[in-house]
Amino acid sequence: MTSPAVIYQGKAIQVELLDSGIAQLTLNLPQAAVNVFNQLMLNELQAAVTAVATSQAKALMCVSGKSSFVVGADISEFTQLFKLPEKELLAWCEQTNAVFNALEDLPVPSISVIDGMALGGGLELCLATDLRLGSEKAVLGFPEVKLGICPGFGGTVRATRLLGLETACDWIISGRQLAADQALSSGALDAVVAADILQESATAMLDECLAGSIDYLALRQRKKDPLAREEATEPQIANVKSAAFKAGRVHYPAPVIAVDAICAALACGRAEALQHEHKAFVQLAHTPVAGNLVQLFLSEQYLKRTAKKVASQAHPVARAAVIGAGIMGGGIAYQSALTGTPILMKDIAQQGLDLGMDEAEKHSARLLKKGQISAAERQKILDSIAPTLEYTDFSSADVVVEAVIENVNVKNKVLAEVEQTLKPTAVLTSNTSTISISLLARALQQPQNFCGMHFFNPVALMPLVEVIRGDKSSEQTIATTVAYAQKMGKTPIVVNDCPGFLVNRILFPYFGAFAMLIRDGADFRDVDRVMEAFGWPMGPAYLLDVVGIDTAAHAMKVMAEGFPDRMRYEFHTVIDFLHEQGSYGQKNGRGFYRYQTDENGRLQKMLDDSIISNIQTIQTAQRQIHDREIVERLMVAMCLETVRCLEDGIIDTAIEADMGLVLGLGFPRFRGGALRYIDSMGAEEFCTLADRYAELGPLYQVTAGLRAMAAAQEKFYP
Ligand code: NAD
Repeated sequence: MTSPAVIYQGKAIQVELLDSGIAQLTLNLPQAAVNVFNQLMLNELQAAVTAVATSQAKALMCVSGKSSFVVGADISEFTQLFKLPEKELLAWCEQTNAVFNALEDLPVPSISVIDGMALGGGLELCLATDLRLGSEKAVLGFPEVKLGICPGFGGTVRATRLLGLETACDWIISGRQLAADQALSSGALDAVVAADILQESATAMLDECLAGSIDYLALRQRKKDPLAREEATEPQIANVKSAAFKAGRVHYPAPVIAVDAICAALACGRAEALQHEHKAFVQLAHTPVAGNLVQLFLSEQYLKRTAKKVASQAHPVARAAVIGAGIMGGGIAYQSALTGTPILMKDIAQQGLDLGMDEAEKHSARLLKKGQISAAERQKILDSIAPTLEYTDFSSADVVVEAVIENVNVKNKVLAEVEQTLKPTAVLTSNTSTISISLLARALQQPQNFCGMHFFNPVALMPLVEVIRGDKSSEQTIATTVAYAQKMGKTPIVVNDCPGFLVNRILFPYFGAFAMLIRDGADFRDVDRVMEAFGWPMGPAYLLDVVGIDTAAHAMKVMAEGFPDRMRYEFHTVIDFLHEQGSYGQKNGRGFYRYQTDENGRLQKMLDDSIISNIQTIQTAQRQIHDREIVERLMVAMCLETVRCLEDGIIDTAIEADMGLVLGLGFPRFRGGALRYIDSMGAEEFCTLADRYAELGPLYQVTAGLRAMAAAQEKFYP
């Protein structure tokens, strides 16, 4: 047998003419684990399609040289691409789509063979071929809305005609990934077969096209024609528009704009329909939301790469231990067990251990109910947590997390005690929220083996772990802690030590700014409403109730000691006031709001006039504060502390600062983080805004570094 003739050879795409007469187009991006559509691949696709069109091939089969098909576009190229002016970006859309159209219009039948993921642009390539064959591992989806954009390679047009209006809109506005069976039943795949017979099955399907038993030209035409009126009825259109509005809410325009473009193109043929898609794509690509979401994607990749590099020096973690089986300790034990690291859980009280185990039982029961784990897996998770009142067996632990109450003396005693029981290579960490790691290290014989490992509540849901480098922590200690956090499925960010570290150091000035607003006459209900409309998952008053007003009042004292110049307040804060009155928030049913458990066991938040009038007694003014002023005062305080963290070297990059806020505090993703927020406004305008509030005190003092940035018209992000 002779080797197949190569009819096109690029760097990322090769086309061979097989003995069967079928042209096989293989996508295989060099030096990459997965295929992504970058400009190189797009250019080569054009040349490859031309080569097929002018060859003797009787059919085309598109395959991947990787373990997945194509996972999407190359997002690292988006930042520059989206900066193109409207006309140029529209021209880019036209030019790129011409390639997909040429593929669709080939004089021969075509099929995509999908083993693994075909997402975004990858799926759009598959939609341009006449047929799609998947293995059981095929996964299809349009993730574009997650980046604030819509499909741009004809996906909105072809999917609507192939899957029907409602299914196509559902795929596009949800960004969901669909398994092979779902893709088959919705018509996105024509067949699903075992991976080892993909090639022969694809050949057979192409032969059927050639023999006329599959009318590929009719299938092709259907993707290019307008939809018939009965295929997109008024009620269906109303449904998809309302679903898009719900999916995007106020802050995310992509679902609404994508669905509007789809609906506007229903009665259009391919060329005109694509114009609607191009316009929507360009409009979305130019929104700040898309810019911010694309940056967040790139930032997530950056954090993964950085953590992987740091973790390369780690000691293996086969067994862990946690001290304190409370809210945090119980959560840490469960997460460790769930992700495959058995853990000892120590407390001083049996009651604490019982609570910790209850948490693990509750969480694992939920996964079992959802069908995400089997009964045997659940049992294995529970068996991996060893509750204990003693330090017996601690010598087997590779990492220990201290999670006892937030009290320096108690922590010092516990840390010194546990250190005696550990093997020399073990890493000891503290989950303290605010206390300086270098300070805690003073109680230890081996401070180099100690660092912070700060989880967020609830541990199972919150993705961030701050790994805090004390002044004596060794790189090996940091590496092992980062590796353990990753193994637990979390995103670690290494931060240098200071009271509150990164996230709480920034959160507490925000709470300080909130307390000043209340002092000056703001109604906390207005503050919550305004900040939730700004995009926060909850306003500051509600957040304080969730965190615990007692916890916050205590942490505020620690922060005041750490940063007396700006975090010690010379007035009676509403946080101290409520704390002194025994209002602790959700934990005792009374804080800024009142809480009651409903019949489903869920906490209901209610307003209580007596709480409102009580708070009024400490307000020094009853001034109506404008919504805009509320946002500005809170955001300026938060942003300036973020700038100080970066300038003080608490983190190395703007990316880490912003990702800490997004992952640790729920900073609105569409705004991209505090430094990104300053960038969006421009440093100069931000400084002018902050100066307007200068009289409120040192929290509002602009740093010299930021002023210099403003003068030089610099940004935090390129
Ligand atoms: P918690 O009060 O729920 O639990 C503390 C547990 O520690 C209790 O079970 C207690 O019996 C146990 N304990 C006390 N002294 C002990 C000792 N000497 N040895 C062993 N166990 C002992 O507290 P929590 O909310 O889980 O907080 C624990 C730590 O995590 C604190 O440092 C806190 O600042 C930090 N943290 C809390 C949160 C949060 O939202 N709750 C978030 C991040 C970090």
